[in-house]
Amino acid sequence: MSALTEPDAIVEITPSAGVQVVRHGWRAKCLQRLVRMDLPVPTSFAFSADAVRAIANGQTPDRACLAGIIERADGLVSVRPSAVNPAWGGPNTVLNVGINDECHARLAEKRGKAAADAIYLGFVQSYAIHVARLDPDMFSDSDGGLRAALDAYEDETDEEFPQDPARQLAEVLRSMARAWDGPTARLLRQAKGAPAQAPLGLIVQDMALALGPGVTGSGSIQLIDSSTGTPRITGRFRGQTQGRAKGEGAETLYLTRDPRGASLEEAAPEVFADLVRYGVAARERLREEMQVEFVVSDSQLSIIDAVRVQRSSRASVRIAVGLARDGIIPPEEAVMRVEPRVLSDLLHYQVDPTAPRDIIARGINASPGAATGRIVFSATVAQAAEARGEHCVLVRRETVPEDIRGMHAAVAVLTERGGMTSHAAVIARGIGLPCIVGASGISIDPRARIMRTGGREFHEGDEITIDGTSGEVLAGAAEMLEPALDDSFNQLLDWADDESIIRIRANADTPEDARTARRFSAQGIGLCRTEHMFFDDERLPAMREMIFADKAEDRRLSLDRLLPMQRGDFAELFKIMAGLPVTIRLFDPPLHEFLPHDREGMRALAESLDLPLSDVTRRVEALSEFNPMLGMRGVRLGITVPEIYDMQARAIFEATIQASRNGDPVVPEIMIPLVSARREVELVKTRIDAVAAAVRNETRKDFTYRLGVMVETPRAALRAGDIAQHAAFLSFGTNDLTQMTYGLSRDDAGRFMGTYVGQGVYAEDPFHILDRDGVGELVAIGTERARSHAPNITISVCGEHGGNPESIAFCLRAGVNYVSCSPFRVPVARLAAAQESILIRREQAELDAAAQS
Ligand code: PEP
Ligand code: MG
Repeated sequence: MSALTEPDAIVEITPSAGVQVVRHGWRAKCLQRLVRMDLPVPTSFAFSADAVRAIANGQTPDRACLAGIIERADGLVSVRPSAVNPAWGGPNTVLNVGINDECHARLAEKRGKAAADAIYLGFVQSYAIHVARLDPDMFSDSDGGLRAALDAYEDETDEEFPQDPARQLAEVLRSMARAWDGPTARLLRQAKGAPAQAPLGLIVQDMALALGPGVTGSGSIQLIDSSTGTPRITGRFRGQTQGRAKGEGAETLYLTRDPRGASLEEAAPEVFADLVRYGVAARERLREEMQVEFVVSDSQLSIIDAVRVQRSSRASVRIAVGLARDGIIPPEEAVMRVEPRVLSDLLHYQVDPTAPRDIIARGINASPGAATGRIVFSATVAQAAEARGEHCVLVRRETVPEDIRGMHAAVAVLTERGGMTSHAAVIARGIGLPCIVGASGISIDPRARIMRTGGREFHEGDEITIDGTSGEVLAGAAEMLEPALDDSFNQLLDWADDESIIRIRANADTPEDARTARRFSAQGIGLCRTEHMFFDDERLPAMREMIFADKAEDRRLSLDRLLPMQRGDFAELFKIMAGLPVTIRLFDPPLHEFLPHDREGMRALAESLDLPLSDVTRRVEALSEFNPMLGMRGVRLGITVPEIYDMQARAIFEATIQASRNGDPVVPEIMIPLVSARREVELVKTRIDAVAAAVRNETRKDFTYRLGVMVETPRAALRAGDIAQHAAFLSFGTNDLTQMTYGLSRDDAGRFMGTYVGQGVYAEDPFHILDRDGVGELVAIGTERARSHAPNITISVCGEHGGNPESIAFCLRAGVNYVSCSPFRVPVARLAAAQESILIRREQAELDAAAQS
């Protein structure tokens, strides 16, 4: 049997017809629901995806069947696409199929020549362009009118315009079926997540013509505002004055009463009331905010289609929450309906999508949100600008730890180099600063204070806008939309937390980060990177003295100066987090990051340390490494210069005692970075235990703490079973783990990542979305081995992937207890974790049901 003769190849859409989304598409199913609601839907037929595929492959539907459909429709039909998912689009709708000379004459007699001409002309144009594939220029201009269009068709094709309605319909179906198979359409829908072989159904529907005396016209109505998501009747109605051609006698009416002009509500109150009633019913029955397309012919209403209302990020949250609050969908469904990424749009200012954009460069969209400011090329100038109350954008080749205060002073950051986990990207996400990195099209001349891009020059002080959401740099000040953290946002996330099987913590280094984390209901701090605490003006000199100290005693003296400051840092974090867990990572970066890099800085350091410049230079050179990220950093530093970790442990314990005084006891979590061998953990643990014992002795206060290990070298992942025996928790540092698994510098990969992803070497930037196959396998192996030796061990992920929805889904299935991400990514992470948890539960329920049956 051919696909075209199968029983459900062509079905009339009736309440009981076997219409299925997977076979006939979403539009067919939606129309059936409208029919079931008894709405005045014109007779419609659904062509199944198999039938459409057969048509695309050259089979022709039965002529008699097509002729029958048109005859029943009183001569005219429309053809619309019906993909499985409305987001996948489809070929353009073709209206008024079936019109020929005879039908034209009939219409002219009944409704006037102008109206009949307009309908015939519209169809000839669309048939010539979309079906016969003739030059659009010859047909898009309707100056010559109907006769000229028919003549042009005949000249071009050497045949009369097809007069057989069934042939017209067959040709329209064929051209739409083939258009769906074309390479452009395929690429477009694949970009929207459709499979390459996505099926397409087609709908043939009786034309509801907007012709006739009385109120006549066509329009659409929705009950919600697409940009705010608040209830408001919006839409359009284009009324036709009887006897005039389409367009000529058209008049646009407001839908609801409006002081500015005539409205459908006043012109046809019953029609309007019916429309609102249908809209409310469609919302309830289709469990969605719908835009209803309608035609009014002489005050008779036809509902020809309904589509999901287009919505902004803000509206998508409000709509989902509104439907759940009205009991139309359960909260779980509301949680599933919002794309996690849209939440990050609501946390920040955004460039108004409808405003013009003067794009001057593009880079990696490293931290979302948008901001406008004047260009500055150094952290110092950024701080000066902030002091003057000016907004500035810090533009650098790349940022280094010394730039942190400049970053805090700026409203946005732009770097020429770097990737998703480079310094600028990590810090910017942490503080919620819009940021673009790896904008390789720009070139910066810091001395001349000029940024060049695409033949244009921008000087210090020139205004630019950073759109960290899209990765676009814009000239001048763009129009912005405000952030929207409203009641619906919070409600949705509360529901999300109820569904989630894992916790979300935040990576927070400062009190401000910690407060942001709490504002977004993070369930603790999963990573406090302590090194950032030493870049303060007050602390850097002591830090440098410590680095320059030759003897352990001198080193201890410098560290003693740092101790109270660190204690204060931790006490404040404990206070803000009010009993929620706080994981403090011991010092991680190579020491030379704290030393000046230029001659001027070294001279100043020599002065302050009262040392000859040559000593300082020698020492800086001695500390420099060929490959610092694989050198003396993390636990390696902790073992070779143990006084640093001793000081930090003491500061943590003293702060613990201080913070426990007024409330529940704080149980700090101390984390050792860059571990690759069990013995490293044993050595550090012995010293930290000794510090804890000393503090208990001195203070006569008891406390407990949890010691954990960062798994960020491939070896630590493979030896996790061993390591787990000495740790209360393991946290995968997937930034370094990705860097080391691929042998790919996280700070330099931005230069070629675009080419690599473009050529399909990597499916995605692995610093952005966790590589499931390689890095993910290490996470899975590490988790499994750790749990087999220590079943109750807590396992988490604290690399940047902890804020990426796809990566969270993977981690959740790998069995982690929580993920930790930048504070501003916490809402996205909460929603993504909830959605994956729901999917897992649904899959389990299906398995259970299958097992029982
Ligand atoms: C990591 O490596 O994943 C991590 C969280 O640590 P950092 O980014 O500070 O190296
Ligand atoms: Mg790391």
